[in-house]
Amino acid sequence: MKKYHHPKYFLLIIFSSIIMIGCSSIIFDRLIMGTTIDKPYKISDGALAFHQSLDFVADLHSDALMSQRNLTKESDVAHVDLPRMRKGNAAFQVFTITSCSPPFQLSSGTGLSFDANKSKFVNQMGVYSFMNLEGPQLWGNMYNRSIWQMDKLAKYAKEDPYFHLIKSKKDFLELIELRSKDKRHIGGILGIEGIHNLKGDIKNLETFYQKGVRSIGFAHFFDNMYAGSRHGKDKYGLTEKGREVLKRMDELGIIADLSHDSEKTIEDVLKYGKNPPIITHGGSRGVEDTPRNFTDAQLKAVAQKGGIIGVMFFDSTDRHAITVDKIVQNILYIRNLVGSQHIALGSDYDGGTITPFDISGLGILTEALLNAGIPKEEIKGIMGENYKNFLLKYLK
Ligand SMILES: [Zn+2]
Repeated sequence: MKKYHHPKYFLLIIFSSIIMIGCSSIIFDRLIMGTTIDKPYKISDGALAFHQSLDFVADLHSDALMSQRNLTKESDVAHVDLPRMRKGNAAFQVFTITSCSPPFQLSSGTGLSFDANKSKFVNQMGVYSFMNLEGPQLWGNMYNRSIWQMDKLAKYAKEDPYFHLIKSKKDFLELIELRSKDKRHIGGILGIEGIHNLKGDIKNLETFYQKGVRSIGFAHFFDNMYAGSRHGKDKYGLTEKGREVLKRMDELGIIADLSHDSEKTIEDVLKYGKNPPIITHGGSRGVEDTPRNFTDAQLKAVAQKGGIIGVMFFDSTDRHAITVDKIVQNILYIRNLVGSQHIALGSDYDGGTITPFDISGLGILTEALLNAGIPKEEIKGIMGENYKNFLLKYLK
């Protein structure tokens, strides 16, 4: 070990730390995220024309607000920004807030595991925030970090007059109307992965609501005081405090997102929730039997309550193995199980993921669904109309 005390190694550590600090988001966006299909994307003229004719294409899950990128500007890294949404004829994006995550270690028993994460760990998001020089008030404070991400989306809505942060049914109807005349108009809502960021105070839910949060997953990668996670250590259901939050969410018109909830939490949300839940990003265990995916019984229960299932563009067993075919397999399986009227797109863009294409390439999926023999009316629904109708029903 002695040789590592040499000034040469000391300088190397200092030098690499300087590079890492301030460039973390760039490194994260460029190296950890990606796509498997190279640009320019090839889509047949017929499929592209059909895709471009769709009025409302929506994606239910992007973590782009974590990034240092200015989302009003087009980037060639990661997956979502406003110009690329327009290129891909995407009308709507759910921008999700991630505020606390175990260290990034797929397939290990500790750290970010799909099976079981310990309740005590170093918060990867705090370290990430530190590396991005986001200010000490954000490093150790999940609530502040969430507000900071939420305010970024409001800022983008000010900078880009054609981007609309949707907070009510009225806002949403206006967006649909504007878009029918000019497709530059696009919109989005905020979502949350894990309400550990409420920090035990339900009053903070009202603040999140005012900022535009309309979709909430109770737990993310670990159990919290409100609910158990499917990747948590104990995987319990909704706690008393969790039920209190669910009740308030129903009153406010915030949709419950089951994506990372434990089996018991899913059962409790279905049992105690008034409004139907959604899965913003998930897959089927019938296609791939992993803890990240959902059982037939869970998918059926969500559909029976009138919920929506966003099919993710991410492979939880092998990040690099994702194909367009895998997405289509999931869609076909769930369509066969519960009907296509419950299906939407739930990419998991920008969440440290590798996907086949970024949001500008959504036409590739439309073409694959046409090739799979799904009728055009159903494809319209899957690509966004189902989710649009759902929002029209449950937004207040
Ligand atoms: Zn997630």
